[in-house]
Amino acid sequence: MRARVYQPRPVEEIPLYRGVGEAWHTLKYQQDNMLVATRTTNVPGVVGRLRQIIELTDHQAAAIGQTIERHITEGRQAFRATPYYLRLMAANPFAPEYNGQAVEGIDPIFLQAVPTPADFHFPDAGHHGAMAEESRSIGAVYQRYWDRVAFFVANNESCPVRCKHCQRGNSLDAAKDISNRDIELGLAYIRDNPNIEEVLVTGGDALNAGSRLGYVLEQLSRIDHIETLRIATRLPVTLPMGVTDQVLDTIVQKSGEKTVYFVTHANHPHEITEEFAAAAYRITSRGFRLRNQTVLLRHVNDDPATLTQLFKGLFNAGVDPYYLFQCHNESGISHLITPLQQGQLLMRLVQGTRGTTLPKFRMNAAGGAGKVNCEPSGVGEELSDLEVLGGSQRVLHGWDSRIHHRVEELGAATSAQFKASVSAMRAFGWDDYRPCVILRDRGDKVTNLGGLKKLERLLEEKRQKERATKLGFQEPHITNPATEWVH
Ligand code: SF4
Repeated sequence: MRARVYQPRPVEEIPLYRGVGEAWHTLKYQQDNMLVATRTTNVPGVVGRLRQIIELTDHQAAAIGQTIERHITEGRQAFRATPYYLRLMAANPFAPEYNGQAVEGIDPIFLQAVPTPADFHFPDAGHHGAMAEESRSIGAVYQRYWDRVAFFVANNESCPVRCKHCQRGNSLDAAKDISNRDIELGLAYIRDNPNIEEVLVTGGDALNAGSRLGYVLEQLSRIDHIETLRIATRLPVTLPMGVTDQVLDTIVQKSGEKTVYFVTHANHPHEITEEFAAAAYRITSRGFRLRNQTVLLRHVNDDPATLTQLFKGLFNAGVDPYYLFQCHNESGISHLITPLQQGQLLMRLVQGTRGTTLPKFRMNAAGGAGKVNCEPSGVGEELSDLEVLGGSQRVLHGWDSRIHHRVEELGAATSAQFKASVSAMRAFGWDDYRPCVILRDRGDKVTNLGGLKKLERLLEEKRQKERATKLGFQEPHITNPATEWVH
């Protein structure tokens, strides 16, 4: 295994897990010791245990507790995370150090997993359920393209980590688990629609669907017009011990002659660990292809060095970087969303890295447009043509030839909401908190576009040097005689 992996803190250095020994590596220990906050949970107890994993001031702990309580009151899955995933965090997520090196910003795992007061700062921004999955075609099935359906086989609580940026947030929060009747309706729908060639088997987390996964795969394997089964799972990232030989053997046995491939979801190089690489190997060594979808998240991975490291780490662990997604405009995550132009600049900046490590940049657009190509063209186009800075009123071309207007990738707020949010989060301890939102009372001005200027400068440097030295490469000796043609 050649993947360069992240080494998290030793388990023994984390007070909550001290003395666990070899049990740490077992699925049972990880499942029995998840931190979970639900309606029946003692929230102060959960926050107390979190404080034995990461350093939190009294103010931070109280604010996180209040945020969790509010999520619960409003009917959301507030917080759920495995010991494995929580260990990936720096001891102090607000002043992180990794292997003795201090790094600016907030810990990227903390931002993906732990509720913060920012979740409620822009109440008018975004949509609950940007994927609109309540409009499932029938039963457990949702058809978005003419030849593909998503099949929701796993319960709402099957995800070992409740990711802050989840695009399925609304359906996961709805406490409407998929019933056996939904499963049968979905199977009947697929049997009756010979245009369906591929089924995305998903959840929640499909690998955590228990016996239902084998049942559904077996039924699908008997349908002639189904060619491909895609298994969606974040377990390699959030609970790699859950990628067991047993579940993989079930998939081999039940999927018959169908082509099966897996898609997982890593967003940061710190998620590429020895355990991740081992889980990926267990999947690929059975002959399954394994791809990754990354969501572009502000403060988590919105810089070229982080993305390049992530994509290379994935590739070297046997996982193909497949998509980089523009984060959807879900409510409660405005502070994690980047302007579309940032993704386009980032794609320009990582251009030149090995093509095998480069994903496609797409937006999974609400409103049925499906995956929309967001990549900047490499031909005859300058950045100024990329028509983005307004942040709204974009025209999208969907897969079905329909044109979708008024797609806003950023959240919107008033100036007062924005100022209050920045001030509250600075008091919370997040010094570089700078959400990028559209200010409705300031003529739709978009805040904090300074990051784009920085990326544009980086791009200019890259152009001048022909190679992106900021990505950590040495200045190469370019011997290609064709460079004489470059002016
Ligand atoms: S694992 Fe996927 S479906 Fe589950 S909460 Fe995270 S992003 Fe959502």
